[in-house]
Amino acid sequence: MSTIAIAGAGVGGLVAAQKLALAGHDVTVYERNREEECGHEQKDSFDATAMDFAGIDIPNGYIAPGNDITFYPLDENIEPITAPSPENYKNITVDRRVLFAYLKGLAQVAGAKFSFETAINAPIMLGGRVAGIKTSRGDFYADLVIDSCGIDSPLRTQLPEYTAIDHEIGFCDYITAYRAFFERVECDEDTGERYKIYLNSDTGFSWIITEENCVDVLIVDFEDIPFAKVADRLHKLSLRNPQMGKELIKGGKFTRIPVREPLAVLVSDGYAAIGDSAFMTYAVKGSGIAYSIKAGAILAKAVEKDEDKLFDAENLWEYQKDFYKEVGFDACRIALLKNLMPYFTADELNEIFKRRLVTSEELEMLLEGNIPISKIPGMLKEKIKLLGDMPEFKAQLMTLIGWFGRFTMVEPFMPNKYSREDADKWRDRYNKFFDSVKNCHENIAQAVEKAEDKKEKKEKKAAQALEKAEEKKAKKEEKAAQAEEKKAKKEEKKKGGDDDEPRHLPALND
Ligand SMILES: Cc1cc2nc3c(=O)[nH]c(=O)nc-3n(C[C@H](O)[C@H](O)[C@H](O)COP(=O)(O)OP(=O)(O)OC[C@H]3O[C@@H](n4cnc5c(N)ncnc54)[C@H](O)[C@@H]3O)c2cc1C
Repeated sequence: MSTIAIAGAGVGGLVAAQKLALAGHDVTVYERNREEECGHEQKDSFDATAMDFAGIDIPNGYIAPGNDITFYPLDENIEPITAPSPENYKNITVDRRVLFAYLKGLAQVAGAKFSFETAINAPIMLGGRVAGIKTSRGDFYADLVIDSCGIDSPLRTQLPEYTAIDHEIGFCDYITAYRAFFERVECDEDTGERYKIYLNSDTGFSWIITEENCVDVLIVDFEDIPFAKVADRLHKLSLRNPQMGKELIKGGKFTRIPVREPLAVLVSDGYAAIGDSAFMTYAVKGSGIAYSIKAGAILAKAVEKDEDKLFDAENLWEYQKDFYKEVGFDACRIALLKNLMPYFTADELNEIFKRRLVTSEELEMLLEGNIPISKIPGMLKEKIKLLGDMPEFKAQLMTLIGWFGRFTMVEPFMPNKYSREDADKWRDRYNKFFDSVKNCHENIAQAVEKAEDKKEKKEKKAAQALEKAEEKKAKKEEKAAQAEEKKAKKEEKKKGGDDDEPRHLPALND
């Protein structure tokens, strides 16, 4: 029996706690909040197959019908696009406090212990490995620490450099979200559309979901949002949705959600990161809950496979490999798409709607997870054909296709077996690739410049060729004219000779 500390009562940590306690380990979950404050004060949705994957029963009432989602462009005169609720998608919509209580109950029944109101401050490092956690209630030692502390984990951010676990989260690697629930008021103008997403004029979007007795509002941005900006967006939303009252029922808080590629290296000796602390979200679609649940089950399996129970990075590498195979590499490709989004201009965003570059059917398939990632470059190539008059937009999508191609060459370098040297090499290669992608603004500007340069050169060459051809033609015509003239002269001469009549010389005496 090993001692396992789960740092933070996130969903993935709770799933791992249940599985590992069932396997007979001494598991304790350390959580800074009071029990009744755990989970968010909101309902969230996720893919139900994650629960099947983790072998967790889905309680009655969790499965909910999906939503038709209507996407509104910036320009109100352009028709919105509605994505119908995917038919084959098994959706769970559940209050986060209820989900927490359910997963916590399962872990507790399996034998896991809970220490609430225990704030984790830092990892305990001993002999180069993570040996426990420093908390507000003292130090706790463990054979394995599972970091389920979310995006700002005090463990991940304080691990020594040699562990190869990255600390930093960069620009556009997270979104700031303001979530609030307002009263619903009766009004005649309610269009009946339940779920609407509005693109904002800069780098974010807002959603509004009209529930039976409230209106659920989310405002997100790639930057930290000052409240004045939120207030402005709330005002605009209420003008377009008169059912949204002014009274705040609950929420009204800011949180951060990671929207980047997962951590390059998830494990170190005595340590594994899970969920938001390892940036396991699907950057465009969300899905943080489903990924975290899946990762919890994958990690528990890897721990069980570790025969000597030393929980060294070498053995925990099984978790790294299986996570990436199951969802991680797909999440990377979606993160590539995300890296373009903050850079689309208002015009480009409007054109996506105007030219129906994305159709309702495609959105439905995307939300259902039914577009194989490998098909995306081919689909993009088709769309690019419609963008002849928008070279910059075209260049951006071409760049994305290039990234997809380049990532295919990064992926196979994740080592099959762990060694510190190989893990370092993998991290360097992976991070360098994503760093280059994150400098996409520059890259795209360069690509546009290059394309324009190429076009200019091509046009110059064509003009030169035309000039040359015309010169040649003129010369040929001149030559032909000369030949014609020569021939005419010759003929004239010949004719002159033929016409020679016997001359009648005047008689001398005439
Ligand atoms: C507004 C909003 C809406 C979202 N909607 C959806 C959605 O609809 N569908 C979806 O799939 N995902 C959604 N997500 C994302 C989802 O919530 C996360 O991806 C998911 O919860 C990640 O889970 P996790 O396992 O990393 O743990 P988290 O849920 O991040 O939990 C971390 C836990 O660690 C605790 N903790 C943190 N620091 C410490 C510390 N120092 N000491 C002790 N404990 C600590 C926290 O209190 C918390 O309990 C949403 C997120 C937000 C913010």
